[in-house]
Amino acid sequence: MTPLGRLIAARIAQSGPMRLDDYMQTCLLHPQHGYYSTRDPFGAAGDFTTAPEISQMFGEMVGLALAQAWLDQGAPAPFTLAEIGPGRGTLMADMRRAMRVVPGIDGAAQVALVEASPHLRQVQAARLGAVTHLDSVADLPEAPLFLVANEFFDALPIRQFVRVEGGWSERMVVAQDGALGFALSAPVPLPREAPPGEVFEDRPAAAPIVREVARRIARQGGAAIFIDYGTWDGRGDSLQALRRHGFEDPLARPGQADLTSHVDFAPLAAAALAEGVAASAPVPQGEWLRALGIERRAERLTAAGDAGARDALHRLTDPAAMGHLFKAMAIWPRHAPAPPGFAGLEDHAAHA
Ligand code: SAH
Repeated sequence: MTPLGRLIAARIAQSGPMRLDDYMQTCLLHPQHGYYSTRDPFGAAGDFTTAPEISQMFGEMVGLALAQAWLDQGAPAPFTLAEIGPGRGTLMADMRRAMRVVPGIDGAAQVALVEASPHLRQVQAARLGAVTHLDSVADLPEAPLFLVANEFFDALPIRQFVRVEGGWSERMVVAQDGALGFALSAPVPLPREAPPGEVFEDRPAAAPIVREVARRIARQGGAAIFIDYGTWDGRGDSLQALRRHGFEDPLARPGQADLTSHVDFAPLAAAALAEGVAASAPVPQGEWLRALGIERRAERLTAAGDAGARDALHRLTDPAAMGHLFKAMAIWPRHAPAPPGFAGLEDHAAHA
């Protein structure tokens, strides 16, 4: 077992079975042994690669979409340009470079990064210079807010419930014979119908985060774009552990593998709508990036000698690569136009 695995087993021996969200939180963010607290997991030498690490085009498209939303809302100054879970800082660096084509925007932007990992905070500061780091979205200033989060929600801990006779049982982490395993709790009532054996995943931290962001956008203006892999309303067990670009047992190496799960966008949209902002349906990433002009950008880069641009375009947009599994969703003030490439949920329903 890993050092963190031994700590977790000791805690279970003392206090009983551990909830999955507690296990995930400990694995990802334990101050000494947590996955994000101790390492830079991105890229070929790491465990996984994200869209901004594949190509500068990704951040350019996101940056220009937010810049257009800023212009559409009367170019408020100053405003907060924020990211949740910025990783290496690559997305923010590419966004800012692309946004500079819009006069006045760079001077008006006050960059705020919400990041839990002390190690990644250092990586981000080295990349981006003087930036403000925040512990929580609740610390974002009361100002117009233009925000992005890429592959952030998938890293938030989940709880899993399995439909059993007489209700739902929660999947708990237990320790037996020197290894970690799963066991089911006694049935708990949950107001949901499903066939026996079905797994329901709940991400308790997600809706409160969306509500903090949406409340600011409703009051002060702005827009938020959330990009992640998942569906509108997921079904089944989607917990996964990634290490060195391969899947492994989520209980095998606590603290040394990335733990994520598919994001359900419906609860994010519901949280936003409850705060009185407009929300889009999740749009497949490939469709969204193409609507923003990524193909022309790839042609330009190729003509300028960037030998990797065509391959990157394929990886980001092809349905068999990241183009379909990944989705982008936006929220914005009800009275303002939708950010480029998005439509309000009602319009979407009308056109579906
Ligand atoms: N957006 C980046 C990184 C994605 S990985 C990219 O696309 O490359 C997830 C990021 O979220 C990491 O920076 C991780 O440290 C951060 N993170 C995970 N849980 C967090 C939490 N609860 N609060 C703030 N940041 C968190």
